[in-house]
Amino acid sequence: MPKIKLENLTKRYGKVEVLHSINLEMEDAEFTVLVGPSGCGKSTTLRMIAGLESVSEGEIYIDGRAVSRLEPKERDLAMVFQDYALYPHMNVAKNMSFALRLQKRPKKEIDQKIGDVAEMLGLTDYLHRKPAELSGGQRQRVAMGRALTRDSSTFLFDEPLSNLDAKLRTQMRAELATLRQRVHKNMIYVTHDQIEAMTLADRIVVMHAGKIQQQGTPEALFKKPINKFVAGFLGTPPMNFLQASIEQEGDGTYLTGQNFKIRCDEPTMQRLNKAKSSTLDLGIRPSDLLYDPAAPVESAIEVDVVVSEYVGAQSVLIGDCGGEKVMVELKSDTPVKLGEKLKFKVDLAELHFFDMSDGQSIG
Ligand code: ADP
Ligand code: MG
Repeated sequence: MPKIKLENLTKRYGKVEVLHSINLEMEDAEFTVLVGPSGCGKSTTLRMIAGLESVSEGEIYIDGRAVSRLEPKERDLAMVFQDYALYPHMNVAKNMSFALRLQKRPKKEIDQKIGDVAEMLGLTDYLHRKPAELSGGQRQRVAMGRALTRDSSTFLFDEPLSNLDAKLRTQMRAELATLRQRVHKNMIYVTHDQIEAMTLADRIVVMHAGKIQQQGTPEALFKKPINKFVAGFLGTPPMNFLQASIEQEGDGTYLTGQNFKIRCDEPTMQRLNKAKSSTLDLGIRPSDLLYDPAAPVESAIEVDVVVSEYVGAQSVLIGDCGGEKVMVELKSDTPVKLGEKLKFKVDLAELHFFDMSDGQSIG
């Protein structure tokens, strides 16, 4: 039995439907990340699971039990919000033990629990400080700790790292990944940040415009995105899209665009046989374009360098391929001049094809 199941879950605010019949199953001890651009319905979904928003249609099951009419406190969930929601007048220990004290648990048990969680989160030396005396990262850890002391079966996180600066985010992301190894609980985590999703999730659920686009392991979604939206959303730098047409010439099949004419091999031809139209969107990840001045024209694309961004060992180049923008990666020590034409070898097996009318993946 799945730990949590959403069945045709729909949300309307007045006449406006913002979530359209979501179906999702989450297994126990799984780290599920709901990811998508701002406004796609992630928080609404999470808040409905938590019982903070009413359900317009459909049902939520926890351990097989329909819960959509139950109060939040009857659902055995713990939630960590974006703004932490700490009590400013209470110290760290009091903040973390708030729920346990409400439940009138024995002092010994509370002290033990707070001690364990503080230890795990590196907060042992800060138990007597007030939130105002803590850094952003420490406050974040207290918010996390407050949820973890609660022994809930499921933890819900709504963009818990979004108020932190870039460096701290990276650090907290790593801490979360470690914490996740130690806490074998069901976790549902909401973020707009695809890197966070890719690094933390057992299973990613990509949402867009109130609908689930695709779900699966980070690897599966990265390798086989079901449509152009998922393909472009996951991955840094993002996938390039170029318009191409399928053309026959002599005994060969070619993918032809403004600045390229790629000869297809047998497996690629078989994939292209499934196309509904002879024009399509060709998707190529920057990491699948190999700089190779000696590449044969029939298996390469040419790119005019427009911008070069130095980012450490790699440079990201923004180029122009017959009027369409292309991003590629290069070793930083490769000499490149703006305006120069560079040749990149294409790996046929790594090409993605999308229908131009509905954006669905082909083959
Ligand atoms: P996300 O968390 O993915 O950024 P939300 O779940 O917060 O998105 O919002 C989804 C959609 O629902 C948005 O279009 C938002 O404007 C709308 N929405 C959220 N809360 C309300 C509300 N209380 N009243 C009306 N519309 C809302
Ligand atoms: Mg949100």
